[in-house]
Amino acid sequence: RQVPEVNPGEVLIKMNSVAICATDVIYWQFGKLADYVIKKPMVLGHEGSGVIQKVGCGVTNVKTGDKVAIEPGVPRDTDDYVKAGRYNLSPTIYFCSSPPDDGLMCRFFVHKADYVYKLPDCVSLEEAALAEPLSVGIHACRRGRVKLGCKVFICGAGKELDQCRLTLSDDRFHSDFSCERLEKAKQMGASATIKVEKCPTCPIEFAQKVKTALGCSGAEVTLECTGAEFCVQAGIYATRSGGTVVLVGIGPASVNIPVSNAALRELDIRGVLRYTNTWPMALAMMSTKKVDVKPMITHRFPLEQATEGFETSKKLAPCRKSNPGPHPHISTFKYNLSFPPSNPGVKKYKKPVKNS
Ligand SMILES: [Zn+2]
Repeated sequence: RQVPEVNPGEVLIKMNSVAICATDVIYWQFGKLADYVIKKPMVLGHEGSGVIQKVGCGVTNVKTGDKVAIEPGVPRDTDDYVKAGRYNLSPTIYFCSSPPDDGLMCRFFVHKADYVYKLPDCVSLEEAALAEPLSVGIHACRRGRVKLGCKVFICGAGKELDQCRLTLSDDRFHSDFSCERLEKAKQMGASATIKVEKCPTCPIEFAQKVKTALGCSGAEVTLECTGAEFCVQAGIYATRSGGTVVLVGIGPASVNIPVSNAALRELDIRGVLRYTNTWPMALAMMSTKKVDVKPMITHRFPLEQATEGFETSKKLAPCRKSNPGPHPHISTFKYNLSFPPSNPGVKKYKKPVKNS
């Protein structure tokens, strides 16, 4: 592909780092995720950063040479959702690497200037790529109304919610079936962790373990990051009456949940779709060292070795297609793709996509 043209209000970004998300791996392997189905070749990647190469007419927030983090969702229309400040819900939004919209794993990318954010001096381009998963954590915490001192149970130790320390909750508690991820969660500030056995049977028993570990009648907020049926059930039981369960993970299209238990204890069950207005906070948190995303960067691959990056990601964080049973099915470690700056190719990298 040619280097794209820049229209008024847009910027041309020379890409630097793109992290591989579990959703990228799922699209690569299966060609679809929930209702999103890939029908034509699509560039993957939505967690990225780069350097401004050119600015279009009327752009004032950044200039050539600025290092920026990229917010991948840009609303196309000024619809009711956008007017209400909830542009993540706009049905016509452009979203990088959500079919059919191309993502960031390319050399040059054109984006609306309003959705790129100049990096503070002390935030590197690699770290800036992780402003995206951090944003998922920030938005989930906002949806769950997590406050300072809140008892929070995080089900699934992927990257987004490891970063929940961001939102001030000092009592965080993780469960997962991977020791390695739990170790990382601890490193990143979880106050305790519980390992889920490979085939857990009773969500009530499991919830009891969570309560015992929290030392109270249950979490005020549960951030459920797996989407797996067992975990949603356990999350509900582990939440104290009047508390909130935030559904962050995407699992099977429908699962059984103990709905009357939730209703009669006045639990709020709240959904999450991506984020709105989180980049300024994410970058501020990184620059003030409230959160350190560096431990999330475990591998680096040049763009030419993207396939290897995906293979590595898949191996270390296997994902399943559907009906994942009781195990969390989206793992979310980050593998950074660093693009060699000395190689100014003009072609967009196109990831081979298998349609299922
Ligand atoms: Zn992601």
